[in-house]
Amino acid sequence: MVLGKGINRMNTGTSGTRRSLSPDTRLKVWVRAGGRCVICNRYLLDGQLTGREATFGELAHIVGQTSSVGSPRGLDTMDLADRDDPDNLVLICDDEHDELDKTATRDFFSVELIKEFKRVHEERIRHVTAFSPDQTTVVLRMIGRLHGSAVEVDQNTTALAVITTSHRFPRFAMAYDRSSIEIDLRNIPGEACGSQEYYRMAKSLIDEVIEHKLTEGALKDQIKHLSVFAFARWPLLVYLGSRLDDTIPVDVYQRHRSNQMWEWPSDSSGMFAIQTPSAVTDTGDGVLILNISGTVQCARIPCELQNAPCFRMDWDDRSPSSDALSSRKALQDFEEVIRGLFAYIESSHGGIERLHTFAAIPMSAAVMLGKVLNPKINPHVILYDRTLSGYEPRLEVGQR
Ligand SMILES: [Zn+2]
Repeated sequence: MVLGKGINRMNTGTSGTRRSLSPDTRLKVWVRAGGRCVICNRYLLDGQLTGREATFGELAHIVGQTSSVGSPRGLDTMDLADRDDPDNLVLICDDEHDELDKTATRDFFSVELIKEFKRVHEERIRHVTAFSPDQTTVVLRMIGRLHGSAVEVDQNTTALAVITTSHRFPRFAMAYDRSSIEIDLRNIPGEACGSQEYYRMAKSLIDEVIEHKLTEGALKDQIKHLSVFAFARWPLLVYLGSRLDDTIPVDVYQRHRSNQMWEWPSDSSGMFAIQTPSAVTDTGDGVLILNISGTVQCARIPCELQNAPCFRMDWDDRSPSSDALSSRKALQDFEEVIRGLFAYIESSHGGIERLHTFAAIPMSAAVMLGKVLNPKINPHVILYDRTLSGYEPRLEVGQR
């Protein structure tokens, strides 16, 4: 038999000359076997005595390389030209190779038996190494304006943020549709004044993209994970969050003012303080105020809501800051606290049917707020935006 390392150990026959195996052939057999012996499954790069890394495997011919009596299993009808093919070679331990080819043991190891060892082993390696955690993510970009200003969120920007902060690999094009999921709100007129018409058109565009791309991609099992990059007025971000499929895990990113980047700049926690009404009232209307990146001007809240039971979330005892959430951890903390608050409202203030919401929150938190809302359980949430004439209701989430 001829060894795969290019050394012919016992080729003394007269029917052929000794041939070295090509590097390509050796590589194929090693890869097919997963670097493990087809007989005992030993990992063939680990020394058993020293633990040092070296090659302890050899390639053995199943049908011998030459058709001679001295070549183990060489007296076969197989064409000589086929004998150095990867299909006729097995990866085994070097000491087992010796035993396989001894004259005294040849009746144990038929061509059929070794072929079967090879087939079962190589199929198993291919199967078990096929499984890996899916590290891909589909990027959803929603690009809008904020008081007239827009930011660029190009593919490089999102790829960098996704790879460096979550170690995922972005897929911009889905197999069924060669385009990415993108909601471009920049050409809709009326953003600067936050008009009702602007919100109506923006909402309709969000609905269209979600229904035609996200829902379709999810149904076709093309989306296993979603990375959301969004820049727009906060009620639209909440609405986007509320339209995301609950069954798909989502990472939400935001552009940080401190460094103009979309990667999370720190690993600090988020600390929030909650205030709730002391008395339970049976009013159908409640107010939710979120002061995280700024402060809601309570005096400008419509008069009819001034005496409604008020729930308030503050950025701990620190001053609100535009970079209040600077880490994924802080966003998770926000998600946990806001979930807890909605659960509390449901259990202790179940009479509230409409929650009028006023917020100065980072963009990622707005998307998360929408994602957390469960229209089946939570009150109907009415989102107010600040306009020249004060806070105006602009969007609603959850129809009771
Ligand atoms: Zn072995």
